[in-house]
Amino acid sequence: MKILVINTGSSSIKYQLFLMPDKIVLANGVLEKIGEATSRIKHEVFKPQSLKQVIEEHIPDHKTGLQTIVDLLTHPDHGVIEDVSEVDAVGHRVVHGGEDFQAPTLINDDVLDAIKRNSPLAPLHNPANIMGIETARLFFKEAHQVAVFDTAFHQTIPAKAFLYALPHDLYKSHKIRRYGFHGTSHHYVSEQAALYLKRPLSALNLITIHLGNGGSITAIKGGQSIDTSMGMTPLEGLVMGTRSGDIDPAIPYFLCKNIGLSIEEVDSLLNTKSGLKGICDNNDMRDILALREKGDQRAKLAIEMYCYRIKKYIGAYSAVIGRLDAIIFTAGIGENSREIREEVCCELEHIGIRLDSEKSRQRGMGIKELQVDGACTKILLIPTNEELKIALETMTLVG
Ligand code: ADP
Repeated sequence: MKILVINTGSSSIKYQLFLMPDKIVLANGVLEKIGEATSRIKHEVFKPQSLKQVIEEHIPDHKTGLQTIVDLLTHPDHGVIEDVSEVDAVGHRVVHGGEDFQAPTLINDDVLDAIKRNSPLAPLHNPANIMGIETARLFFKEAHQVAVFDTAFHQTIPAKAFLYALPHDLYKSHKIRRYGFHGTSHHYVSEQAALYLKRPLSALNLITIHLGNGGSITAIKGGQSIDTSMGMTPLEGLVMGTRSGDIDPAIPYFLCKNIGLSIEEVDSLLNTKSGLKGICDNNDMRDILALREKGDQRAKLAIEMYCYRIKKYIGAYSAVIGRLDAIIFTAGIGENSREIREEVCCELEHIGIRLDSEKSRQRGMGIKELQVDGACTKILLIPTNEELKIALETMTLVG
């Protein structure tokens, strides 16, 4: 079975074509800067032979973009399929499913309407995801279309954790509540942990720590998300590349009233000019670590704040989860930065978290165990793979 996974942004389309159930990636790529003078496609194929291409040309809209991707996939010389009809299903990443979706869902007109209804909760993401679905339906007419929601995995969070202490009508009438994001990643690494530890997921209590450009942390008890750091939007929680994470909710009011910022300026400040970037003018953790190495005090402060916030959440979640079997580091920073893992884990011995720096330092592929011998809580490094998880969910759904 061939499954195309698509992640559509407002000016980008990321795609991966899988041969399932073998989990073989036939092709992948990303089209960026749709609508700009020069758009760019990076396209890679792996079967029958490897080929990497970068194409720069003007791609005015998503429809032309997907047409270009289809042309690459079906190219007579280096295509990986002969015809679009070979694609059995298209799995779409959809950011916000609100309270309507607890699981991946086959897309029909009603489902599409429900995704549209949830757009006010993710105005930057859902409209682009919808465009991706509508365009894919034009090109892959015979394929099943499946929506896999970032929010779905967190729908098990109980009301005491998902509600904000605001007038209850704001939840009832406007659906203001915690939804949580990165659900596909948290779910995937928790399943991988269970397979690795050879224990049923239902018997494990985990804290999963996803540290990419965005970051979030989730308490998973018996396979179910019981709390997560991102909220109604992906702004809440950890310090991120450009997002503030938790702040006093009165600060936006202060910024408007006393500094004269508009609501839009506050939104942009919190989402794109804060976090690591706000503290030290850089949002790439590799650069920030290198700057700290050279003695840059702001970079040092940014890393301290970044790790301190994660540590606070580990403390909070270990309090609510009870026995803690493992914490899991994943995504760009979680998988690659031993410095961040070390600073997050230091002085957490009292809750059983004891990192072995030597093990954490060793490079290598796949899942690694990083705790000292005999520690009661495992520390796992598990590479995330959201695209594969979307392909697996899609395969399960379409049989
Ligand atoms: P996204 O959320 O966009 O998928 P990634 O999961 O790729 O992002 O994570 C991007 C982050 O990972 C960046 O801050 C980058 O600097 C960081 N990163 C990647 N490799 C390393 C590394 N070797 N050491 C420290 N940070 C790294």
